[in-house]
Amino acid sequence: MDRSFDELEAIVRSRICSVCTERTTGGECGLEDASSCALFRLFPQVAQAIQSVDSNDIHQYIDAIRSNVCSVCQEQARDGSCEVRQQVQCALDAYLLLVVEAIEEATGRIFDKTTICTLPAGSVARPGPQIRL
Ligand code: SF4
Ligand code: SF4
Repeated sequence: MDRSFDELEAIVRSRICSVCTERTTGGECGLEDASSCALFRLFPQVAQAIQSVDSNDIHQYIDAIRSNVCSVCQEQARDGSCEVRQQVQCALDAYLLLVVEAIEEATGRIFDKTTICTLPAGSVARPGPQIRL
């Protein structure tokens, strides 16, 4: 994929920040420390994962994101589990469908999103994400 890092970040920011519960009415990030947002704190890894894949199968992008990003995230336990993800509090995981849509925009591809499970095995679906960023 030939999108630059900056282009990818702009696409993801415009799709996710615009609906994020932390966003203020003024359109700014409402976090005390905006750099603590998990999605963008790990965005270099997210972008690297997206850029490493060239496929029409969205699962390859999702697998790459999870293995590139979760593997370096301090929240992941040694056995690969993640309490934050289990509690639907990871912004990257909670907004994964929006990330997928951003990938579609960046790549010009349309993926079959009906087969995407954004919840980890064994977790329980909840009405909406409660994001801890
Ligand atoms: S918390 Fe993250 S996703 Fe939400 S508005 Fe701030 S930077 Fe964007
Ligand atoms: S799912 Fe867990 S390990 Fe993966 S990025 Fe989110 S908080 Fe980190």
